[in-house]
Amino acid sequence: MSFLVSHPISEFTEVTNQEEMDAFLEWIGFFHDGVLKEFHAVNHASVKQSLMMSILASWNMRMLLQRQFRNPSAVEIIFCQVQSFSTSAPESVDIYEGAGTVVIQKTDEQRVISLDIDGNKISCYQLFYRDASEWMGSESRFGEEIIAKPNLPIHQIGDGWVQCERCGNSWQTEGRHQVKCYRCDYN
Ligand SMILES: [Zn+2]
Repeated sequence: MSFLVSHPISEFTEVTNQEEMDAFLEWIGFFHDGVLKEFHAVNHASVKQSLMMSILASWNMRMLLQRQFRNPSAVEIIFCQVQSFSTSAPESVDIYEGAGTVVIQKTDEQRVISLDIDGNKISCYQLFYRDASEWMGSESRFGEEIIAKPNLPIHQIGDGWVQCERCGNSWQTEGRHQVKCYRCDYN
């Protein structure tokens, strides 16, 4: 079993106009008392094995945001063809309010969707979201943990199980190679 679970786009709701944006913001309580937990960004462009560059740059991103509320507690947002992104982290941890706009650019009729989550700003051509309330807690969901501290006091005890030397907690890694103890939050 792998800790990596991804949800197909069919499980997401798309925001295509201002009315749907307003409904989304209301549904998520304008992100109040939320934490931007995780980002994942993938560029369509790449340098191939042959060293040829595929220059069709197109960034897709996804974001996990958790809140101190229920129904929903967390949301996963997918941003397609990201045009710009800037974050105010780590200055702001607790999110107070977010705003969103959907604008049709007159020049090329392209729809641009912008979200400003308390200074974390992103604009893109397509936006999708889903209720991700099952993704609470400090575990990473979009990939392995990013751990800089060496000498973790966590031991392999066999069969995919590990134990934290600090608090005695033991758990299954579910395929994680980078492990940290979520009970005592030592990382
Ligand atoms: Zn521990």
